[in-house]
Amino acid sequence: MELLEDSIVPEHARDVKAEAREFAREHIEPNAQEHFQDGTYPEEILEAGQEAGLVAQDIPEAWGGRGFDLPQLLALTEEFYRADAGIALTLQLASFGCEITYEHGTDEQCEEFVRPVAEGEMRSGLAVSEPDTGSDLTGMETTAERDGDEYVLNGEKYWIGNGVEADWVTLYARTDDDETNRYGNHSLFIVPTDTDGYDAEHIPEKMAMRASKQAHIELEDCRIPAENLIGAEGAGFWLLAEFFNHGRIVVSAHGLGLGAAAIEETWEFVHDREQFGRSISDFQAVQHGLAEMLMAFERARALTWRACQKVENGDDVGYWAALSKTNATEMAVDVAEQGMQFHGGRSILDERRIARVYRDVRIPVIYEGANEIQRNLIYGQAPRS
Ligand SMILES: Cc1cc2nc3c(=O)[nH]c(=O)nc-3n(C[C@H](O)[C@H](O)[C@H](O)COP(=O)(O)OP(=O)(O)OC[C@H]3O[C@@H](n4cnc5c(N)ncnc54)[C@H](O)[C@@H]3O)c2cc1C
Repeated sequence: MELLEDSIVPEHARDVKAEAREFAREHIEPNAQEHFQDGTYPEEILEAGQEAGLVAQDIPEAWGGRGFDLPQLLALTEEFYRADAGIALTLQLASFGCEITYEHGTDEQCEEFVRPVAEGEMRSGLAVSEPDTGSDLTGMETTAERDGDEYVLNGEKYWIGNGVEADWVTLYARTDDDETNRYGNHSLFIVPTDTDGYDAEHIPEKMAMRASKQAHIELEDCRIPAENLIGAEGAGFWLLAEFFNHGRIVVSAHGLGLGAAAIEETWEFVHDREQFGRSISDFQAVQHGLAEMLMAFERARALTWRACQKVENGDDVGYWAALSKTNATEMAVDVAEQGMQFHGGRSILDERRIARVYRDVRIPVIYEGANEIQRNLIYGQAPRS
């Protein structure tokens, strides 16, 4: 069974999808279990992805990338996450700090920081979350104080993908304390990770997406040039909100890839396994379970591609991005749960792909905004005539 067929994918994105599938088959799938079990960073696969022109290629051609648009990124992401979510996350996070910079930064910033990421010479990260604050973007406490022609950063960041491995991160910090303007108190900065006062270490081992690495960053009088501010001071919240509207379409594809993996794996298992003298796929309860999984998957995929088009066209973007992220990531949780049940006792063996998928699906329902926050956005931004 192969679920990620391309009739729903716009024609211009199908070549990228085919390239991503070939790369995933050759480089991601065969190494997925090993990286999951030993929790190692897939350095060689990342380098292969950079060489293949499939990492950081949303970066516009003007800055050395292939300028993938959202449908191309979505098509690539489905394929990568089906092969393995942990490795896929590492590949995608290499450019996590770039979009806000190439959309809102200066040409000098793009030349110095974005181009090397597109060319595979650097990697970036996005540092927003903190140990005490995750969902509340207006509550982040890390400060950036202007001192002459520098900003001085103090505070902590947590969960930051590539916080150790990256050459620079786009960092969200408080530049004002105006209670009457909660959405205007934060700004975004480019912070090279070799700056004095930037200290990062890996957070403890995770139970899921183990081939990706997140960091705890401590900033102590970390001085960066004032020209590392991205866009205007105080615009951070809005730049981030805009970025997440694209990001949530991409995270929907994390759910679709994981959901496809769970269903395909389960389909194969139930057709191989015999009990009571026949294949367990002969039992109607199992057939109905598979039917439910397929219905949920196809609903989520149709919604995601519709939402992708809406976001591309600029129609109620916050609403569609939240709808699709919530639906696709929760579909993955549901089908993985059913897939585990149909695997019987073998479901819990560490070496089984379904056990890996079952753990990985726990993450996309949390990152890029926990799904409760998405529900707030769906209600709050629903189109009202
Ligand atoms: C593997 C992984 C990678 C990550 N990568 C990055 C990264 O690269 N950069 C980065 O900045 N962050 C990253 N994050 C952080 C992620 O974005 C946060 O974990 C997420 O925003 C939730 O924040 P929190 O964990 O602090 O949970 P909290 O904000 O403490 O929320 C805990 C729970 O409370 C509930 N809740 C909170 N607020 C509300 C509300 N208003 N209404 C209803 N319920 C609510 C929800 O159930 C939520 O799950 C990553 C996280 C993970 C797990």
